[in-house]
Amino acid sequence: MPGPVRELVERLEGADFETWTVGGEVRDSLLGMSSGRNEWDLATRATPKQMRRLFDRTVPLGVEYGTVGVFASDGELYEITTFRHDVITYGRKAVVAFASTLDEDLARRDFTINAIAWHPRREVLHDPHGGRRDLEDRVLRAVGDPAQRFREDYLRVLRGLRFAGALKFEIHPDTWAGMREAVPGLAGLSMERVREELLKVMDAARPSLALALYETSGARAVILPQLSEGIGPRALATIDAVPQEGAHTRIAALLACGFGESANRGAVTELLRGLRFSNAETDRIAVAVGGGLGPERRLVDDAVARRRWLSSLGRRSAGDVFQLWTAALDAGTAPVADNDVRHVIAAVQRDLDRPVPMSVHELAVAGRDLVALGWTPGPRVGRTLQRLLEAVWGDPSLNDRATLLEIAAEEPPSS
Ligand code: ATP
Ligand code: MG
Repeated sequence: MPGPVRELVERLEGADFETWTVGGEVRDSLLGMSSGRNEWDLATRATPKQMRRLFDRTVPLGVEYGTVGVFASDGELYEITTFRHDVITYGRKAVVAFASTLDEDLARRDFTINAIAWHPRREVLHDPHGGRRDLEDRVLRAVGDPAQRFREDYLRVLRGLRFAGALKFEIHPDTWAGMREAVPGLAGLSMERVREELLKVMDAARPSLALALYETSGARAVILPQLSEGIGPRALATIDAVPQEGAHTRIAALLACGFGESANRGAVTELLRGLRFSNAETDRIAVAVGGGLGPERRLVDDAVARRRWLSSLGRRSAGDVFQLWTAALDAGTAPVADNDVRHVIAAVQRDLDRPVPMSVHELAVAGRDLVALGWTPGPRVGRTLQRLLEAVWGDPSLNDRATLLEIAAEEPPSS
């Protein structure tokens, strides 16, 4: 445990507030793996008010839930949460009340492996729900009555599928039964929470195990009913092949495969907006989905078609499209021959490096050049520039001022 986290515990305990570390970092440490994220969570008897009195630099992260962010000596922000138990639950949101004991706090946590507390000063592990044994047996088990716990907060179903997939754990039969029973309730979750969960799944080294569970549990059909093809082997292989830091490209792979033949810009955009992705993210992902898992056949041998395609795609999107194509190549899911995919990527890359103009604004002549030569400003100038662009796509060496003016003159300036 990082020294600065230990200092936070010392500080709270020095003021007589019992404090433990809990949650994902305790779980992952016991598994002998570090998330590398340094997201230590502290649970304490101190109330938010008392915490704010004790520490100089705090951030109210969710004071009504008892969570205060505190900057430690390493400059990092750590979450410290007052012991609490859930009182009233509406399935999607819990109203919490503070509790006086660690045991009450651990009992409201979702899975046994997430309900282990470690006391760094006394070096004591407190594990009333048998989380340690479940870690050894590699079993995911809900704390308490599974059906009830999932009804309290349906997001726990998705969290459970994610943990089971990421850790390669078996889901205990009773917990699995509880999840299956709770699956229809996922429809009531806020889409922001679903999106955040989905992105966490996509952040794992290999999302496929969790995503396969999304399908077999029935969760996918409830939260993403638009994906007529579901999440099949093609999607799973392609998603895993996208580099880990490419979560958004992984979402694009999910949609490209899941919509299958019915993928169109409108449907893809609607789904992404429904998940409350920002406009910028929606556009970016939708463009990648539009690129598919590989180039269309006509892009293989036709340089002009390729340039027209890149122009409509926009330069900046080429990287995302290529990332998805390359993943499909690696996964063996590309729709055209491997050599053809590589050929198109290399050819487009050459155009990007050269660079070949992708819009009339990048031509060696501008509308005002034509006007200076006596053209009447108007749509005809625009049409001529477009014609020049097409000519340059056919032969990029034509893109110099004198040549383009010559070609422009082939058409009378007014008629
Ligand atoms: P990771 O950060 O790797 O996703 P984590 O277990 O740390 O996993 P967090 O979302 O950071 O998950 O939450 C920290 C802890 O808070 C969890 O370990 C769990 O004990 C508790 N917790 C979080 N969300 C819920 C929930 N919806 N229901 C019950 N307990 C929860
Ligand atoms: Mg965490």
